[in-house]
Amino acid sequence: MTPGTATGPSTPGTDGPPGTAAAAPIAAVALPPRAERAERAEEVADRLRTGAVEAIAVTWVDNAGITRVKAVPLGGLTHAAQWGIGTAPCFDVFLADDAITTSPIIGGPTGDLRLYPDLERTVPLAAQPGWAWAPGNRYTQAGTPHPGCQRLFARRMEAAAAERGLSLKAGIEVEWTVALAGSPQEEPRYPTYGPAYGMHRLTDLSDYLRDVLGALGRQGLGVLQIHPEYSQGQFEVSVAAEGPIAAADTSVLVRHTVRAVSARHGLRVSFAPVVEAGGVGNGGHLHLSLWRDGRNLGHGGPGPHGLTAEAEGFLAGVLDALPELLVLGCSSPAGYLRLVPSHWAGAYQCWGLENREAALRLVTGSTGERAAAANAEVKCFDASANPYLAVGGVIAAGLAGLDQRRALPPEFTGDPAAAEPGTVPRLPASPAEAIAAYERSGVLREALGEPLYQAVLAVRRAEEEQYAAVTPEELVAATRWRY
Ligand code: GLU
Ligand code: MG
Repeated sequence: MTPGTATGPSTPGTDGPPGTAAAAPIAAVALPPRAERAERAEEVADRLRTGAVEAIAVTWVDNAGITRVKAVPLGGLTHAAQWGIGTAPCFDVFLADDAITTSPIIGGPTGDLRLYPDLERTVPLAAQPGWAWAPGNRYTQAGTPHPGCQRLFARRMEAAAAERGLSLKAGIEVEWTVALAGSPQEEPRYPTYGPAYGMHRLTDLSDYLRDVLGALGRQGLGVLQIHPEYSQGQFEVSVAAEGPIAAADTSVLVRHTVRAVSARHGLRVSFAPVVEAGGVGNGGHLHLSLWRDGRNLGHGGPGPHGLTAEAEGFLAGVLDALPELLVLGCSSPAGYLRLVPSHWAGAYQCWGLENREAALRLVTGSTGERAAAANAEVKCFDASANPYLAVGGVIAAGLAGLDQRRALPPEFTGDPAAAEPGTVPRLPASPAEAIAAYERSGVLREALGEPLYQAVLAVRRAEEEQYAAVTPEELVAATRWRY
């Protein structure tokens, strides 16, 4: 049993009355009993030892979208599973450049949290010999869930869906830019200058891309495809859909695997929203499908393109909340340099079948595979997002739409930038606009809970202020190598 897995009553003070609707999300984030955790840690450690693992990197992603880490030697895994690893609560108000802000509830130098490795997701790192990785959940010293823990927030949202008999499958596409490690900070030089989507690029970087695929595969990830993207040095990998928390974990694992393989090839990588001002950026598109009793609710229903009423309500809720969801899905102010019309980033608040300029792209799949393949893609998100906040926020907004039985507005076909001005609403064009939408949003505030809601708000406001007066080139230079 692993910390954070739905286990029913365990830690005193964290369980509601059994069987009630309100109890489920709380039970879903309760720590299992300590003895159970220790036993499972021993099993996991034995398995890792046979794979010559010496140390485990336990990560969490902060509200600025940066993956932070505490590592323990293999011999310390059981202790970490029993007692957690000490981490400071002030990490919740770190900015991407390591400046620290504060928020009304979380912040300041005092206090301590415990980071617990998710033992079930622990995996040896193929491109970092001797290392394994585990995503972490954060609890208080008393063993109660830390209200600022983004991964536990996502788990609560997954549990809220489960309360309604629903499950989700998700996948986050990872785009990145690869540059020569020795190239100047300010002026990336690329290892290939082949054409967009060109075989030329794949040939030039053939060993590198094979090693990326190999490492991802050895870590148990189901790679769907890998390809050169539009911009210089840009590539993308997509992996099979899985549960929403697993998908968020995978996006962290994929990025650090790509980084590790790149280092071995004398390359440096950026997952930043924009690497060259004015260019096509790196997205972090989130694919999502909603399921009930093994049935994909995006198929076979009476709604548009076969959506069931539940899937339509869910997507209508997501579409409606996209302006405030950008606060969770595009962490960096640089994201708004990427999120511009006609850059395939989905800068308009509309939906459309296979429409790559719509923020919400409906994908039905090919004839014959639709029952399995139908899903929706939130295109406007980028990889500066904390993926747990992004998936959790989308589930919260979707469930609100589903509960209210909302209908989708008419579909938009074609490029909204070419439409009559004002016909299609533009998503926030600046961090300030997104923050204003977030401050108006009841749904996200309630779902996140006040401590996490306020911590995210503080980080966004601080980064908005940091870069309010800089040029796009300066913003890109400041963020290019942070993500
Ligand atoms: N790179 C584009 C973005 O910023 C997306 C390209 C694509 O459709 O895959 O989101
Ligand atoms: Mg792409």
